[in-house]
This record gives sequence, structure tokens and C-alpha cells, in this order.
Amino acid sequence: MPRIAYVNGRYTVHADAAVHIEDRGYQFADGVYEVCEIARGHIIDSTRHLERLDRSLRELKIASPMARQPLLTVMREVIRRNMVENGLVYLQVTRGVAPRDHAFPANTKPSLVVTAKRIDPAGGNKRAESGIKVITVAENRWERVDIKSVGLLPNVLAKQQAKEAGAQEAWFVDPDGTVKEGASTNAWIITKDGVLVTRPADSGILRGVTRTTVLDIIKKHGLSVEERPFTVEEAYDAREAFITSATTLVTPVVTINDRSIANGHPGSIASSLRQAFFDIAEKMKA
Ligand code: PLP
Repeated sequence: MPRIAYVNGRYTVHADAAVHIEDRGYQFADGVYEVCEIARGHIIDSTRHLERLDRSLRELKIASPMARQPLLTVMREVIRRNMVENGLVYLQVTRGVAPRDHAFPANTKPSLVVTAKRIDPAGGNKRAESGIKVITVAENRWERVDIKSVGLLPNVLAKQQAKEAGAQEAWFVDPDGTVKEGASTNAWIITKDGVLVTRPADSGILRGVTRTTVLDIIKKHGLSVEERPFTVEEAYDAREAFITSATTLVTPVVTINDRSIANGHPGSIASSLRQAFFDIAEKMKA
């Protein structure tokens, strides 16, 4: 059975799915996206993802391609047609198709693309069991990284640099030595005193949906948490480190720039947060 994609009102065979060459997403990265986890056929945390999508659209003054409920229906239909039990649903909205001109075109209909793909959860679980390696790179992105824009070139280059270094993620670091976030994940450490630390989401990072849900779990379990910047030096000295995203969920970090974090094995708190995420995600499915 071929994969199916939704493109501007049509369900089409994925291999033939296409947008116009003057789509502003293609020419200017003038668009936004969301990625949601699918677990046992359900979309996890869909409300938070669609709220963030609305915010990204508002910030860029891109019209909403459709109301939230019909959008959810399209996402579910793409998942159903691709028979995805576990995996990801991706949706992208751009300002639409118009003759190339930097300023916003008038009355252009936004483009909407939705795809879904299957992912065997065993891969992510294996990575979580062994832990991942992280490198640090100098922050070189624009200031509005709070918008989930498709302009991801610095993230792409950082991820490639990580891959070439034998690592799985790159953490962007500000000139003052503080960690921002990963190329596609939020960054966390746990101090020797057992305090969970992650950068505040008011500016400088994307407010990860998984980050928000993990904060809920932390508070529910009565663990100590501080939303504040932390330095790379502090991370080297941490009891544990981990990343969060809809794709990786909670995944322990075992080395940063080839320096082992604690004993170089996944920490127990990160591992139990990963388990707790699975339990809470069950209640957030749509
Ligand atoms: N930070 C960046 C730069 C990202 O691209 C992502 C996800 O794509 C995240 C953080 C994590 O966000 P979420 O938990 O919503 O997947």
C-alpha cells in the first residue's frame, strides 16, 4: 500500500505529492510546522501542538489554513490511511503560493501539508537505554526561535556536525557559555543536589511540548526544578543530562563533547521520567 500525504485539500500518493515552485515555504522558508508523536494510533499532546501552531502562525501573520477540529480530522485521516500505529505526524503551513516578492502577498491562501510515518519504538527505546552523545556549537540562529519556523538551516548544519562527530545532538551555546537547546530538542541537566534545570522558555528557545509535559510530571512527582540558564561547565559536572522532544521523548545524554556525564550511563531520574511520560501520554492522546 503506498504512503499517502495530504496536500492542500487532497490526499495523494506520497511519492507524487508536491507543492508549487513559488510556494513561499520553498523560496523563503516562510512557513511553520509541527511534529506530533503517534503512540498506539493516537496523537500525543495534540492540543498543545495545535495551540503552538496557532501561536507560530499568529507571530508570522500567516492565516490559519483551517480550524483546529477539521485539522485534527485531517491529521487522523493521514494517520489512518498510512496505518501508523507508532510514529510521527508532520504538518506544515506556509504563507502560500505567490510571485516571488519578499513582502507578504495579498490574499494568498496558506498551503497545508500533512504527512505521517511509522517508526518502530524499539529504536528510540534502545537509544534511551544506551544514552546519546551531544556536542556543543555556537548559537547562530535568529532571535525568534520561539516560532516553530521551517527556516532550520542552522539546525541542519548543527545536526550534521553532531553526526560527523559521532554524536546524536548538538546543543546551541550562547557567548556567555549558557546552553540554549538542541538542534531539534530541549536540553536539561540534573544537578548533584537533584535539581532539574532547563532554560526558561520565554525567549531564546522553542517552548517544547514535551518540555511542558515533563515539567508537569516533575511537579506532580514533587521533584525540584529550576527554569534558568545553565552553563556547559555545569552540564559537565551534572548528575544527569537529557533531552526532550516529541521525536525522542525523554532521552538520557551520556557524553557532552566526549566528556562523560557522571558515570557515563543513563541516569535513573531521566529514565524514570521517560517511563512517566509514557504513562501520562496515555491520558493526553487524541
Ligand atoms: N527545540 C527545537 C529547536 C526543536 O526543533 C524541537 C522539536 O522539534 C524541540 C525543541 C522540542 O519540541 P517538542 O517537545 O514540541 O517536540
